[in-house]
Amino acid sequence: MHVFPNNGDPALPEVKSQPTFRPVPEIEVPVLILGGGPAGLSAAIELGKLGIRALLVDDKHRLGGKLVLQTHRFFGSTDAVYAGTRGIDIATILEKELLQYPSIDVWRQSTCLAVYSDQKVGVLKNGSEYVLVTPEVLLVACGAREKFLAFKGNTLPGVYGAGAFQTLVNRDLVKPANNLFIVGGGNVGLIAGYHALQAGINVIGLIEALPECGGYKVHKDKLVRMGVPIHTSHTILSANGQDNVESISISAVDDNFVPIPGSEKSYECDAILIAVGLDPVSEFYQKAVDFKIKAFVAGDAEEIAEASAAIFSGKIKGLEIAQALGKEIGEIPDAWYRTGAILKSRPGNTFKEDLPNLPEGVIPIFHCSQEIPCDPCSSLCPHGLIIVDKKDIRSVPTFVGNNYCCEVCEKCVAGCPGLAITLVDYRANPEKPIISIPYEFSSEMITRDDIVTILDTEGNSLCDAEVFDIHSIKTSDRTVIIQVETDKEIAPHIAGIRIQSPKITQPMFQYVNHVTDDTIVCRCEHVSAGEIRDLIRKGYKDINEIKTVTRACMGACGAKTCASLIRRIFREEGIPNDKIIDPSKRPLFIEVSLGILAGENSEESK
Ligand code: SF4
Ligand code: SF4
Repeated sequence: MHVFPNNGDPALPEVKSQPTFRPVPEIEVPVLILGGGPAGLSAAIELGKLGIRALLVDDKHRLGGKLVLQTHRFFGSTDAVYAGTRGIDIATILEKELLQYPSIDVWRQSTCLAVYSDQKVGVLKNGSEYVLVTPEVLLVACGAREKFLAFKGNTLPGVYGAGAFQTLVNRDLVKPANNLFIVGGGNVGLIAGYHALQAGINVIGLIEALPECGGYKVHKDKLVRMGVPIHTSHTILSANGQDNVESISISAVDDNFVPIPGSEKSYECDAILIAVGLDPVSEFYQKAVDFKIKAFVAGDAEEIAEASAAIFSGKIKGLEIAQALGKEIGEIPDAWYRTGAILKSRPGNTFKEDLPNLPEGVIPIFHCSQEIPCDPCSSLCPHGLIIVDKKDIRSVPTFVGNNYCCEVCEKCVAGCPGLAITLVDYRANPEKPIISIPYEFSSEMITRDDIVTILDTEGNSLCDAEVFDIHSIKTSDRTVIIQVETDKEIAPHIAGIRIQSPKITQPMFQYVNHVTDDTIVCRCEHVSAGEIRDLIRKGYKDINEIKTVTRACMGACGAKTCASLIRRIFREEGIPNDKIIDPSKRPLFIEVSLGILAGENSEESK
């Protein structure tokens, strides 16, 4: 057989000698853990404590998964999941603990390629060696992948997924944009906006299709207080630009998420961040179940939730696996399952902010009025003056002291992950109290005597005030405290300082409707939404057939992006989920050369 490149493609590499092959190595392990993120690490630690042999495989050079991109302090339970500690630091803590246990072997930069019907798992070790692993028990803790959106201009350079953006900004310390617009008001989009502001990137706005942001209110409030407008019930119409993103066009939507004509607006920006939810990476688990492998699934691969929930879910799965291997460890406490469920829970009720009206002494103010699983403030107070119900940490915090109990240690102010606590000190002058406000931006951005705009919880401007003092406290871990002096009437309402000017978040004079291409659904094979829609209107219900006709889902990414977009077009066409046939999931997880799978001796074949 002769193989020739197509015209215009690069020449095939010259083969100097006949390739030689060796048998593909095979190993057996009691436990194989796929994924070294919060869930996989926590499960491995539990197994390590019990001396159970396990192999943990992760595709990155360092363990921690998405934790290493999270520079903010975590919500959740201080006792159970390191709440109040920054994600990147939690990754270090977990990795360090794991490496103490000799029964745990770790393969970094190694990717699971497929789970096979002979109960073997194909792993690409160190990116070059193919190994077949037969586990007694498989734990799938591969996390989640981002959902994408189909909109006009979605392939323009400058359109980012949240993970890619956070990798550039938080891991690689690259500033990929000057003016960012965010699509999606869940925790991921809200946090990414905060990270962008910390990196010196203007955040021009954030849109959310629902009437309310799905993320924690404290995250949303934090962003609004920094001066980022949040447009709920809005959708993206297009990313506009010639060679890269130059602006975004958005529109209000009605109750059925249909754009409302006449409400279109455009904003100048050079990057658009898409954070519209996550899908579990659970295909290995499904295959393992199909092929009768004893399998468990943990973290986002099981159910999308906060990373703190993934840590706890991994802990529980580690113990369940030990039980499945016949290890005598007693019952897993019911309280653990309760804690796991609480950590996974969605935000609950929102209450009216409780503002004190006795202008004397010192009093902490909680701009945290929504039920979320979080308790660091209560753990931080040395005198136990802040109470969050330990049985259900979703309860909102309350101050149980009087106006003369607080010793003004400011630990609660500096340690709250939502930057949602301020301290009002009336002692020196009850008419002009001093307010302590947490601040997590470069200290070069603010100096003593600066005039700053003071905002309430919802981002409304209260007044301009002079910075009275800037300091940090011993336990503050990179959060500083800004102090201002204001009139007593507004003091309890103060929640933050504006970071960016309202001028930069104004819409453009004219709505931009410059679209040169149809919306792309499958980037690998360049298939448009129009092509898919045509087939659906012809009666196609099976995504496998759509794949055969258009090649969508057939590209290098293995349908990781387009399959959910195609399902969305079905929904837009009024076809319910149960009438759609999903594409068959086939190995391999990533592209890999045939030589690697065949055990080619790479040195010899050069
Ligand atoms: S400032 Fe210190 S003593 Fe006062 S409530 Fe906060 S943590 Fe407790
Ligand atoms: S006030 Fe307490 S419960 Fe609310 S976000 Fe801050 S630490 Fe969490």
